[in-house]
Amino acid sequence: MTPEEPHDGMRVVGAGPRQPADRALRPTRFDEFIGQERNLPNLRIFIQAARAREEALDHVLLHGPPGLGKTTLAHIVAQELDTRILATSGPALARPGDLAAILTGLDARDVLFVDEIHRLPVTVEETLYPALEDFRLDIVIGRGPSARTMRIELPPFTLVGATTRAGRLSNPMRERFGILFQVEFYSPEELQRIVSRGAALLDLELAAAAAAEIARRARGTPRVATRLLRRVRDFATVRGVNAVRKRDAVSALERLHIDADGLDAMDHRYLGCLVRNYNGGPVGIDTLAAALSEEADTLQDVVEPFLLQTGFLQRTAAGRVATALAWERLGIEPPIAGGALPGLFAADDVPEAGPADDE
Ligand code: ADP
Repeated sequence: MTPEEPHDGMRVVGAGPRQPADRALRPTRFDEFIGQERNLPNLRIFIQAARAREEALDHVLLHGPPGLGKTTLAHIVAQELDTRILATSGPALARPGDLAAILTGLDARDVLFVDEIHRLPVTVEETLYPALEDFRLDIVIGRGPSARTMRIELPPFTLVGATTRAGRLSNPMRERFGILFQVEFYSPEELQRIVSRGAALLDLELAAAAAAEIARRARGTPRVATRLLRRVRDFATVRGVNAVRKRDAVSALERLHIDADGLDAMDHRYLGCLVRNYNGGPVGIDTLAAALSEEADTLQDVVEPFLLQTGFLQRTAAGRVATALAWERLGIEPPIAGGALPGLFAADDVPEAGPADDE
């Protein structure tokens, strides 16, 4: 993790950073991958077609909140294409030369995975455009009047970019992706299957009802589900049992301070601050971030997507607004008039979670 990457500290339900143990539970083929049924079937067809034509797959942009399987999918794409994958990230490619070094090492039809692609420096992005479109690199050698451009032909390759912020990508960058794949939150049923699969891989006997409890509290996010599963297993290990029943899972999850909706201490702090300090909003993200001593990026990437999706939070042109559900959850009576209750802003004020307000 780079120093400035949004992080969510030690949250048990945080979606990042990645842990090495994630890898053991990571599906490696489409057949093992659960969920994303809206977009996955098409992606499989595009891969099949590219293979049949013996061409490089079109460039793919995976976008959506952290922990939903973007990196996993990138690796599966390469596996299913039967090619190599080279993985890097936007912040790691500081200079055009860094990019050139990677691109010139690619073989035909290889996958180049760039995580956090919205954080590519502009000069690197501009070097990337001709590489994506015409498979060529124009490198400027030297400076001033003696500078000259050297052209390098590249083999056709596939860029798989991942971002939590599609809205932060420049238009020319976005237009160079032929396949756009929005990763979505998982249903409790899908998460339950992911948890049960994980338990089997970890050699843990987990009752279906226990898997359902973990799934219900996993914020729609596989990375959270597998992390909770490992913590539940820790409690079982210390108690010297290898079979986890529903009540064991519930007691472990309660000890981790995760409530029945998967909201944790950070979510409660966020909603509590919005409701108590700002009367439910509207309030700007930077103000909230300062009040919570958190990075605005972390709030936007990690905390808010789930609160928006579950209806605890609204994003409006004027700022963040707590919904009636949030007041109810905190056990506080919402103000009758003058407060920022839902309905005060028409739903079409601003497209929810759109790139408009902070991006
Ligand atoms: P992202 O790149 O979007 O942050 P990852 O691909 O790193 O997310 O996924 C995080 C972890 O969640 C993976 O290591 C894997 O164990 C698990 N995971 C993600 N998607 C799935 C899935 N569809 N089925 C099973 N496990 C998954």
